[in-house]
Amino acid sequence: MKSIMNYVNGKFEEGDGKEKYEVFNPAFGKKIAAVREGRRREIDGAIDDAHDAQLKWQRVPISDRIKYLFRLENLLWNNLDKIAEVTTIEHGKTFEESKGDVVRAIQNVESAAAASYQIMGKSNKQIATGIDEELVRVPLGVFAVISPFNFPVMIPFWFLPYAVALGNTVVIKPSEKTPMSMEMIMNLISEAGFPEGVIQQINGGKEAVDYILENKKVVGVSFVGSTPVAEYVYKKGTSNKKRVQGGASAKNYVMVMPDADLEGSINNIIGSFYGNAGERCLAGSVLVTLDENHDRVLKAFKKKAAELKLGYGMESGTDMGPLIRKEHLERVENYIDIGIEEGGKIVLDGRMSRSAKYPKGFFLGPSIFDRVEEGMTLMNEEIFGPVASFYTAESLDDAIEVMNKSRYGNASTIYTTSGLNARKFSEGVDAGNIGVNVGVAAPIAFYPFSGRKDSFFGDLHPQGGDDNVLFFTERKVIISKW
Ligand code: NAD
Repeated sequence: MKSIMNYVNGKFEEGDGKEKYEVFNPAFGKKIAAVREGRRREIDGAIDDAHDAQLKWQRVPISDRIKYLFRLENLLWNNLDKIAEVTTIEHGKTFEESKGDVVRAIQNVESAAAASYQIMGKSNKQIATGIDEELVRVPLGVFAVISPFNFPVMIPFWFLPYAVALGNTVVIKPSEKTPMSMEMIMNLISEAGFPEGVIQQINGGKEAVDYILENKKVVGVSFVGSTPVAEYVYKKGTSNKKRVQGGASAKNYVMVMPDADLEGSINNIIGSFYGNAGERCLAGSVLVTLDENHDRVLKAFKKKAAELKLGYGMESGTDMGPLIRKEHLERVENYIDIGIEEGGKIVLDGRMSRSAKYPKGFFLGPSIFDRVEEGMTLMNEEIFGPVASFYTAESLDDAIEVMNKSRYGNASTIYTTSGLNARKFSEGVDAGNIGVNVGVAAPIAFYPFSGRKDSFFGDLHPQGGDDNVLFFTERKVIISKW
């Protein structure tokens, strides 16, 4: 079986750990590759090489560094379909969804090229007699990127192009569940001509993360994944004097007001809950209505959800792919059992709609619970699957209050035709990404991806704008007297 390769110092190498993790095609339920256990020696070696490469890379003029990014951008566009196909094979999402994943990555390359010019410093003449003072932003060294399974291409690119444009080098550890897309992209990084050691891929699971966090030459870590792991990486990383930015789990609320354009919005609402099979940190999870529009919204939502076609993401006509693993499918099914036990009313049961063509795939159809109450598990916990829970609020104020009790703060959306409602919602809801008539409130590359509360650890968020420029550089003050 194919073993995922490390990419170190411009060469693909097989790690020497034992094959520990399996990569599946989740639509077929079939193993397609193996990931070797990360070994401290090889990970430390990759970091040493990245460290040596950084000493030279930081001296490459910024305009030349960006030329590598432009070459990479072209190669990503030219190979969009190929990368998207690999993403669909290893992850299960539809081909169109995978293409979206790659396009968002490319937009971050473009945004990084632009953002890097923000490092322009500040200077003052004569702060004392004959003394000038200057503030410059300088690169820091080797950064690590540790990514989750659900956006195998986009999420590493929330960080990678910014780090290298600003003069750092990067070691990427993709999810052991979906490492193939990044492995393919390493070929393009090689073709783009980046000097050896500037971008490296190492593989593994928790053990590889620990070796990264324990290595003194790693100055910062960009992490995205579940809250317990994000918290662990944040605490261990910062206690080892690294800067850490950590995107984490979510529970997102979608409010549909009685004045919303339901007909015009329903496909967008459905996309929020069932796009990417619900395995999206911005996915709608709880649908909030008022009493007066509850029946109308539920009827329209259920009709559309029931029409979604499950299947292999490379086949045209597929609306929704499988979940990532059998264990995750069972976990989501367990949430359905809990929902029923706790008194939720299941009105669409996805367990009844497997894919007839792919009986071994990890499929679960769209599911809907009605009359979910505060305090129920479905109301509070991240499910990360195609399960929607309907909650009826007494008013918009009541809905905002309920949302703000959540431990998470990644995203919330309102559908309304009232500017007043929209304003009250966007001001009142304690989440970092707010949608107004937009079901997946995903900031474009040059805005920060702004999770809050237990959805984020650290201060400076992923993606463009100021945050990544600050994260990937350090200030230096130069005081001169001539
Ligand atoms: P995960 O936490 O299991 O894994 C993420 C990364 O951490 C992987 O590279 C994995 O190898 C590593 N890892 C796993 N367990 C570890 C441990 N015990 N110690 C150290 N490292 C460990 O997450 P996942 O299942 O791959 O991804 C899904 C989660 O990611 C969801 O909770 C989702 O909400 C979240 N997510 C958040 C964002 C965001 O921006 N906030 C974006 C995408 C996904």
